[in-house]
Amino acid sequence: MSDLIKLLPDHIANQIAAGEVVQRPASVVKELIENAIDAGATKINLIAKDGGKTLIQVIDNGSGMSSIDARMCFERHATSKISKADDLFHLHTKGFRGEALASIAAIAHVELKTKLETEDLGTLLINEGTKIKSQEPCSASTGTSISVKNLFFNIPARRNFLGTNLTEYKHVLSEFMRIALVHPEVAFTFHNNGDLIYNLPIAGLRQRIVGVFGDKYNNRLVPVNEETDIFKVTGFVTKPEFARTSRDQMFLFVNNRYFKDTYFNHAIQSAFDGMVPSKKFPSYFLYFEVPTESIDVNVHPTKTEIKFENRQEIYSILRASIKQALGQFNVSSTIDFDQENTFQVPSLKKGETVDAPTIKVNAGFNPFTSTTSVSQTTTFPKTSTPYSSSPKSSIKPDVNSWENYYEAAKANHETETQLEFGTEITPNENGEVILQSKMDNRFESNTKAPYQIHDKYIISPIKSGFIMIDQYRAHSRVLYDNLINTWSDETVKSQQLLFSEEFKLSTVDLPFFKEIELKLKDVGFDFILKDTNSITVTGIPVDFENESPKQLIEGVLTKFKESQQEGDVDFKQVCAKAFANAKAIKKGVKLTAEEMEHLINELFSSSNPQTSPSGKNIIITYTMDEITKKFN
Ligand code: ADP
Ligand code: MG
Repeated sequence: MSDLIKLLPDHIANQIAAGEVVQRPASVVKELIENAIDAGATKINLIAKDGGKTLIQVIDNGSGMSSIDARMCFERHATSKISKADDLFHLHTKGFRGEALASIAAIAHVELKTKLETEDLGTLLINEGTKIKSQEPCSASTGTSISVKNLFFNIPARRNFLGTNLTEYKHVLSEFMRIALVHPEVAFTFHNNGDLIYNLPIAGLRQRIVGVFGDKYNNRLVPVNEETDIFKVTGFVTKPEFARTSRDQMFLFVNNRYFKDTYFNHAIQSAFDGMVPSKKFPSYFLYFEVPTESIDVNVHPTKTEIKFENRQEIYSILRASIKQALGQFNVSSTIDFDQENTFQVPSLKKGETVDAPTIKVNAGFNPFTSTTSVSQTTTFPKTSTPYSSSPKSSIKPDVNSWENYYEAAKANHETETQLEFGTEITPNENGEVILQSKMDNRFESNTKAPYQIHDKYIISPIKSGFIMIDQYRAHSRVLYDNLINTWSDETVKSQQLLFSEEFKLSTVDLPFFKEIELKLKDVGFDFILKDTNSITVTGIPVDFENESPKQLIEGVLTKFKESQQEGDVDFKQVCAKAFANAKAIKKGVKLTAEEMEHLINELFSSSNPQTSPSGKNIIITYTMDEITKKFN
């Protein structure tokens, strides 16, 4: 039998390697910027088109390359950064594998322009899919510019696999942030489709974080500093009250390298125990320094996990140092509406003291007044008029339907641990909402007027305990349903503003804004965009004249960005969410008994009383069983 094994030709080997190194435009951004930093650059410009799918260009003022190196750098395993195995354990550069440029060149059109400081002329080299098309001397300034066009031009399957321009933009953006956050000593700019997204001057660490996330971060940051023999940590965590529902601002770096580590995330999160509600996450920007030989970064070119020798010790030191840093801030625990219908009593830790609780009581409340008859199903009229912007003027009491809710409950004897309102309420042909009898038998009626605590939550006693309603979320559910109903019938009208309003968009959001620019006009906004990110609003959707155009548009943008993660979502739904949130009665607004009753009534006629349009819990149920147990 003849010999079958052959060595793969270079261009195929490179394409295979590229599959590992280059997953999407953001991977190219990472490799190119890291090379620029390794080359000692103090200024790096990133230029992207279509989220990097069409073009990624990185221009640096670093060392540059000789004309021979300009050719060599595209060879596999060509690196100037290590020369012997032992170097692997003392890495001070970001790159060391010599794989990145070879991989990128195998799957894209690459143009390299580079010049050493000591030379008069630089080199211009064109490489397409590993084939060097040309190399010639050129005039250039010291440093390197690499542009990567048409990523995956020769691997259509991979190209089709890429996300939308916005998705790829988001990946590029987060890669850019990871690097910018760890190199405040380097000035960065970032352009996408010609828009200046970032212009970050050389700065200190705090200034850099503020530069990346916005001025409001300046007074959110709490410094963390701790140094031991095995581990040093510096950086910042945000104050507990600024915890976010998204985990996208958890930044860990070790020896100037971004990494992910759920174990250390846990250490940090647990330092905030009792200070932030569950499902909320403080932001952090923490920079570890450990002896280079005590970590193994040699895992995988695109992986962000790193093995640590002293994990457990670092965990404890990290947790303690954050607790200490937070120590100076007053902490209060909040009622947690993100928990599913449970009654939460935090257990006391040794040495902890509790303040006596204070409760506002509605003197008119009488829990012993009972209600009337029992019916198998109850119909609620479907309301279609949206609330006006002033809740007080428009909320009309309709006590009957609210009480009917309890009556309906009484009729049924199925026992369930959780109410699933959404599944039980369905509109019939007449547009009426029928509350089916599948209700929890604990909700027998013996209730009267609800009352409000801390101007945030409405408490409504029921025979089997009480329910607590988040007034803001409840109202936004009602408004959202009304908007969706009205919008499905007619086009949204625009109201011209007497005085136009001007505001600036965050440049990071520009690519998102451009995506929805025309759609915003469809839902009744009128505006012009000038000086890149300055918006002058001249018209606003009817019924929203009293809301701030800035708040509305920014709200739509935020919801639009969230909807990107969830896949294709109807833009009107996105707007309805944002508008409902903008207009809903805020926490801190006092409500009369009538207003509360009306709100509750409307909530239970809505499409999903249990869950807000943004997917948050509106109602918590406290049963007598649970309460009695707590008193044992
Ligand atoms: P690695 O970074 O792992 O060494 P790369 O493929 O990323 O591998 O780069 C190969 C080599 O090309 C580097 O070792 C470096 O010598 C050179 N190089 C790449 N980018 C630059 C740059 N921006 N400035 C100067 N030299 C560079
Ligand atoms: Mg590299």
